[in-house]
Amino acid sequence: MSETGKAIIELKNISHTFRMGGGQKLRVLQDINISLYQDEVVALLGPSGSGKSTCLRILAGLLQPTHGRVLVDGKKLNGTNPRVSMVFQSYALLPWLTVFENVEVALESLQLPREEVRERVKRAIDLVGLEGFEEAYPRELAGGMKQRVGIARALVGERPVLCLDEPFSALDVLTAEALRSEVLRLWLTRKTATKTMVLVTHNISEAALLAKRILVMGTGPGHVQVSIKNDLPYPRDERSSGFKSLVMNIHDVITQSIIPDTPEWVPPALAATTIETIPPVPLVEVIGLIEFIAARGGQGDSFAIANELKKDFGNVLFLAKAAELLDFVDTPKNAIVLTDFGKRFIQSDVNVRKRVLHEALKGLRLAQLLEQKLKTAEQFTLPIETVHEYIREWMPNENAETITNTLVQWGRYGELFGYNDDTKQIYLDVGQETA
Ligand code: ADP
Ligand code: MG
Repeated sequence: MSETGKAIIELKNISHTFRMGGGQKLRVLQDINISLYQDEVVALLGPSGSGKSTCLRILAGLLQPTHGRVLVDGKKLNGTNPRVSMVFQSYALLPWLTVFENVEVALESLQLPREEVRERVKRAIDLVGLEGFEEAYPRELAGGMKQRVGIARALVGERPVLCLDEPFSALDVLTAEALRSEVLRLWLTRKTATKTMVLVTHNISEAALLAKRILVMGTGPGHVQVSIKNDLPYPRDERSSGFKSLVMNIHDVITQSIIPDTPEWVPPALAATTIETIPPVPLVEVIGLIEFIAARGGQGDSFAIANELKKDFGNVLFLAKAAELLDFVDTPKNAIVLTDFGKRFIQSDVNVRKRVLHEALKGLRLAQLLEQKLKTAEQFTLPIETVHEYIREWMPNENAETITNTLVQWGRYGELFGYNDDTKQIYLDVGQETA
C-alpha cells in the first residue's frame, strides 16, 4: 500500500438514504470516507445490513449517493466508474450465454476489434482456470466454476480496481478456500491489471487472510467504525498463532470488548510481532565497548570511540545498538552514555555480571519468545532448523540464520540457551535457575 501515493478512488462524506414505497425513507449509510490506493486489498467487514453492498455500488457508480462525492483520480465521478469491475456473490451470469459469451459481455461497450476481444476473453478464461469450458452453459457448472466465470468477466475489462461482493460465501468451504487463494495469487503475482481489491465480507478470517486494511462497518445507519491495519506477510497461514490472535483481536473489536484508541488501529497481535532485531555482533565485544566507555567517564562520542578503537563506525553503532537493547547504554544523538544499570554491571564481579547479563537477555522480546518455545519442547530442546522457522515467522524481513546465530551466541554467553553442534540442537540452559 502506498498511502503517500495518490488515491485512485475516494468516497467523500458519502451518506445514502433509500426512498421506499409510501414515501418512507431509510438511511443506510452515514458519512463514509474511504480512499483506495494502489497495491492494497481493503476489506469491508460488517454484519448484514451495514451497507457494504451499497458502498460498493456507489463506488462502482451503479448508484448515485444522496450526499457526498466519489472522486476518481481526483475528479468527480459521473455515471459508472470506468476504473472498477465487480464480482457478485450470486455470480450474475446470463443463463442463455456460454462461458465465453458471458465473459465477452463485459467488453461489448468498448467496441474492440473481434480479434482483440477473442484474445482478451481467452486470456481471462485461462487466468481463472476455465480452459476447456468456453462452450459450456452456466447450468452445467458447479458454484466454484460459475464464480470463476464471474471473476474472468471482471478481469477481462483490465481495470485497476476489482470489487468483490461476498464472492465466496455461496460456495462450500473447500471450494471457497481454493478460489480465495487463487484470487490472492492473481493479485500478488500482478498477472492481471488489478492493482487494488475491495472485498466485501462478513467473514473475519477471510478479511484477515486477504486484506491489508480492514474497515469494520457497523449498522444503524451503516458507518465505518474503525480501520484495522493488517501487515501480516502473504501468504498468511490460518493455523499460525499470529493469525489466530489477529482474528481474536478483530473479533474483540467487533463485539466491542476492545475499543480501539485510534481510527487507524494496529491490533495487539500484530504490534507484538514487530520484534526488535538484534545486531549480529559478539556479546563479548558489546561488553568490551561498555568497559571502554566506563573507563572514559561513562560516555563518549561514537565517532571518537570508533577512531580510538580503530573500528569501523558502523560496527561501533551496531555494538552501541546491542548495548542499548540490553539497557546498558543510551544513545542520544551521536553519543553513547552508560545507564545506571550499565554502571552497576561494570562495577560488579564476574558472578554478579553473569546474573545481570542473564536477566538483561531475558528482557529481550526475541529471547522471551524462544524461551517460551523451548520450555514447551521435549527436553527443552529444539533442532536449529525449527528455530529458523520460528524466527522466519516472527521476523519475516530478517535473515533467520543470522538472527538465530546471534541469539544463540548471546544466549550461550548469558547462560540462557545452549547449542549442541553435533546434534544441531538448541536447548534451554536451566543451570542458573537450579543453581
Ligand atoms: P450489506 O451488504 O452490508 O448486507 P446492503 O448495502 O445490502 O447491506 O443494505 C443496507 C440496507 O439498505 C439494508 O437495510 C437493506 O435492506 C437496504 N437496501 C439495500 N438496497 C435497497 C434498495 N434498493 N431499496 C431500499 N432499501 C435497500
Ligand atoms: Mg451485501
